[in-house]
Amino acid sequence: MIFEDKYIDYSYKKKTELYQTLILFYIISNRSIVQLGKFLLNVALILKLPILGIIKKTIFKQFCGGENIDESKIKINQLGKHNIKTILDYSVEGNNDSSSIEKTFLEIISNINEAKHNPLLPFCVFKITGIAPFHLLKKINNSTLLSKEEEKLLTSTKFKLDKICKTAQNCKTPILIDAEESWIQNAIDKLTEDLMKKYNKNFVLIYNTIQLYRRDKLEYIYNLHNDAKRHQYKLGLKLVRGAYMEKEEARARKKKYKSPIHLSKKDCDNDFNIAIKYCINNIENISLCIGTHNELSTEYALKLMQTKKIKCDDPRIYFSQLLGMSDNISYHLSKLNYNVAKYVPYGPVKKVIPYLIRRAEENSAITAQTREEIKRIKNVLKSG
Ligand SMILES: Cc1cc2nc3c(=O)[nH]c(=O)nc-3n(C[C@H](O)[C@H](O)[C@H](O)COP(=O)(O)OP(=O)(O)OC[C@H]3O[C@@H](n4cnc5c(N)ncnc54)[C@H](O)[C@@H]3O)c2cc1C
Repeated sequence: MIFEDKYIDYSYKKKTELYQTLILFYIISNRSIVQLGKFLLNVALILKLPILGIIKKTIFKQFCGGENIDESKIKINQLGKHNIKTILDYSVEGNNDSSSIEKTFLEIISNINEAKHNPLLPFCVFKITGIAPFHLLKKINNSTLLSKEEEKLLTSTKFKLDKICKTAQNCKTPILIDAEESWIQNAIDKLTEDLMKKYNKNFVLIYNTIQLYRRDKLEYIYNLHNDAKRHQYKLGLKLVRGAYMEKEEARARKKKYKSPIHLSKKDCDNDFNIAIKYCINNIENISLCIGTHNELSTEYALKLMQTKKIKCDDPRIYFSQLLGMSDNISYHLSKLNYNVAKYVPYGPVKKVIPYLIRRAEENSAITAQTREEIKRIKNVLKSG
């Protein structure tokens, strides 16, 4: 293991809590149990069984900060003690009615205002699907003609995006915009590029997310960089591998088009590392947030920083992991004085269930990392 366990702080967890975490990781390391759990959870929600309390005490506690910003402060301060920053992520997904959109928009604004006063919150993050109807993004993506009603929705979305960016600019809090499914991502890219052009003139305020599991995204970075040079703005890029692989491939199969995802993990890893190298080589124009739990890619970025004599805490390079995952990387990096921030999802338990299911599925797929997590907790329990 490249990143050592010994810096992780488990001291805030009681022994019983460590046992609970251990059981949780055993459960989510098993793909069949996760699939069965997902089915039973949906049944329980349909039958309105009182299960939210159990979820809050188990999987929610592992992967989320709290139900609101105030509840998440305990987590923010625990991480902050170790010089690990927090990126608060209002993780309510899939609710596209106008009142949910309004609520999410206001939550993003409160999030930015919270970050203004708290140096432990270096970025804010959101998904464009939180503030724009999915069907609208899909139509824009396909360049389909919009109806009058949809034109109005688009104007309202652009107004919201601009208000978010203006608030962020006043608070000097950079914004990460998440990447989503390929059938709406062109629309997200276009909206985000327009914001970068407007707001990234002197200071990198807006970061777009690049999913390197897509075959076309290295080319996208090169073109975007040329555009930034031409129009004299800076790029903010969050590099990730991508979270929707199964969904992408299932849709491509069903609709009979070539999947946009690389054929192999190796190709995806290659592109991820090439992207890191390209951004670090162009650090004068590109600020970077490397969102990964992959130890080799993280180590690769550290080596490139060393070679280029970039200081560990250069504000243009951040590393980020999700709360509850790969703490060894986060704690080790912070110990070496690199900029590290955890994504800390929050929101009402019922509404973050889709996020939690994704985390459980991801952990059941990456069993090597999950096994390490189990080993770590067992060692802490053994050592007393
Ligand atoms: C801070 C942070 C922010 C994130 N934000 C986003 C976001 O905005 N949008 C988003 O989509 N995801 C996001 N993710 C999730 C991310 O895309 C990955 O799903 C997750 O981090 C696992 O990848 P990894 O780099 O950590 O490590 P690894 O475990 O090395 O890689 C696993 C990933 O590799 C890719 N992969 C696996 N097998 C193959 C294959 N056969 N062919 C091609 N590719 C393959 C998949 O993307 C898979 O998730 C974020 C993750 C983090 C840590």
